Amino acid sequence: MTALPKNSEYAVEVRGIEKSFGTLEVLKGVDLLVRPGEVTVIIGPSGSGKSTLLRVLNHLEKVDKGTVRIDGELVGYRRKGNKLHELSNKEILRQRSQIGFVFQNFNLFPHLTALENVVEAPVSAQNRTRSEVEIEAKALLGRVGLAEKEHDYPRRLSGGQQQRVAIARALALRPKVILFDEPTSALDPELVGEVLEVIRVLARDGATLVIVTHEVGFAREIADNIVFMDDGLIIEQGSPAALLDNPKQERTKAFLARVL
Ligand code: ADP
Ligand code: MG
Repeated sequence: MTALPKNSEYAVEVRGIEKSFGTLEVLKGVDLLVRPGEVTVIIGPSGSGKSTLLRVLNHLEKVDKGTVRIDGELVGYRRKGNKLHELSNKEILRQRSQIGFVFQNFNLFPHLTALENVVEAPVSAQNRTRSEVEIEAKALLGRVGLAEKEHDYPRRLSGGQQQRVAIARALALRPKVILFDEPTSALDPELVGEVLEVIRVLARDGATLVIVTHEVGFAREIADNIVFMDDGLIIEQGSPAALLDNPKQERTKAFLARVL
């Protein structure tokens, strides 16, 4: 056994994850490696375990078996000899604040303005000063094209605008990785493009992204690695050209025939 280097080669390192809900096995032994600056896109049929895997990365779900490391740090647990002990809530919240999470339904706080939504977590989970975070938050809202909306409440914003606030909110954590769970699925078709454009720019700027999406054209354009999941397993992964144009597994071929 060789020791892991201190600064891990991987931004995300998932080893042997198994997860059941009651008798339903949802993840059946998942391994996934993401290097810093890489864009990983996860595709696969509904119910295949994609959302559960993202939630496991953030310790929103406990696992039955396996480990997750973010930038080399074990997520959710501390190792003591051969045993893993779950971290305290406070430690879990600190870890979670190193990971951005963008949800299908935006999940903005309805009683906070766009700016307040972006400022909240860095202040409460990272103990940063509000005035300092506000300056950064305004710049982030500018970056997603919403400088003039900072005082608006979510209900006054379109879905595309709300999702762009959610992306600014994720960025405000200065996260090591940003997870997206079907970020455009709840949007009217004419609003999808503005959200994809923001994600495209993040990818170009070198952010580490893990994106669950049905937008296969977008995946082809920005992914370094496309992962196909089915029935709780990663069936196949590879570059967009390898996975989309030359899939090896029958299940991948059948899925792509349905969505392409
Ligand atoms: P996907 O995102 O690929 O559609 P999910 O990870 O959401 O798949 O779900 C995988 C399976 O796990 C589905 O059968 C779903 O119903 C089940 N599942 C997800 N979350 C829970 C839960 N909290 N309790 C029970 N079953 C769940
Ligand atoms: Mg899902």
